[in-house]
Amino acid sequence: MSGVNPYASLAAAAVGELSPYQPGMPPEALEREYGIQNAIKLASNENPAGVSASVAEAMRTALQDVGRYPDGGGFALRAALAKHLDIASDQLTLGNGSNDVLVLLAETFLTDKSAAIYDQYSFVIYRLAVQATGARALVAASNPADHEQPLGHDLNAMAALVDDSTRLVFIANPNNPTGSWVTDVQLRAFLESLPTHVIAVVDEAYYEYACGESYPDTLAWLKDFPNLVIVRTFSKAYGLAALRVGYGISAPGIAELLNRVRQPFNVNSVAQAAAVAALKERQWVQSSKAANAAGIVRLKHGLQALGIASLPSRGNFLLAHIGADAARCNEFLLRQGVIVRPVVNYGLPEYLRITVGSEAELDRLLACLSVYVDQNDRGHSV
Ligand code: PMP
Repeated sequence: MSGVNPYASLAAAAVGELSPYQPGMPPEALEREYGIQNAIKLASNENPAGVSASVAEAMRTALQDVGRYPDGGGFALRAALAKHLDIASDQLTLGNGSNDVLVLLAETFLTDKSAAIYDQYSFVIYRLAVQATGARALVAASNPADHEQPLGHDLNAMAALVDDSTRLVFIANPNNPTGSWVTDVQLRAFLESLPTHVIAVVDEAYYEYACGESYPDTLAWLKDFPNLVIVRTFSKAYGLAALRVGYGISAPGIAELLNRVRQPFNVNSVAQAAAVAALKERQWVQSSKAANAAGIVRLKHGLQALGIASLPSRGNFLLAHIGADAARCNEFLLRQGVIVRPVVNYGLPEYLRITVGSEAELDRLLACLSVYVDQNDRGHSV
């Protein structure tokens, strides 16, 4: 739409402040707009391996019954998740992607009289979900660029913003787009400092990639912190991004409230069947994690060799510091058919976020970047 929207004055006040989420560009859109072929997408932190044969088979079987509504309670998926995580199924809230669970949390706990806290460079959906409710957003300054977790969450700064009206605090671990993370010791101290009227939302979208040394075992902490909500997804390591399945894990009382607000059929039947099958594929997730670890090293070193620094990351992506010409570099890559993610909307105009794709995709990206660096005589600039 061009010009002023004639319906804007009719919309809820909070909607006037909203700007829509900017997703990674689909390869078909690039091919259409730029008239090129064989575009690759390293812009949405998907698993380049996709799904296993058994998951594809489960989807095909579920497709035979799409004339019926899905199980609105998600019984089989909740049972499978409960077993997988060793929790009770009434601790779970299923979402249309974990994005849905984040929005449900905002809708359930925020009003125009309350407030939510998130970090300056944290996942943009927190801002959008909070804004849509009319609640006050309390934005904590991120760590400085020379910190050991550059541009990452400063939990002390977040804790300092808590007041009587605070209901939610969002922590992305690791965070998107920075890749930064908080350790078990840091997160536990932060949770201990929170008053009971504040719900801590720990977004572990990249859990399967990130778990390991010093990564918080938040599941084991649920008994100590009744106001903790863990949010995970099948979109990343499980390779089901298009199907939209995520979940919250919390005290049953919190899940019961979220399930009141949740749309009855928010996770479709093909997605539920695929997620159940994917949970059985532990080896698939393990090998995706191993491939990602190797890919991160390959990408980091490849960038370094071109004089491009990147931030430490515990996800399946790197935030690369391109410099003042990041938009030009992005445009160059697009013309070569390589889609990465500009992060101007995060207030990070000098950076590009790059997903760890397959080996071939990373080679192609690095080859294009090498041409760009040569053409722009800028190997020394970062
Ligand atoms: N949290 C974080 C930190 C993310 O990066 C993403 C996806 N980009 C999500 C949540 C939402 O993912 P989904 O809705 O696909 O589960």
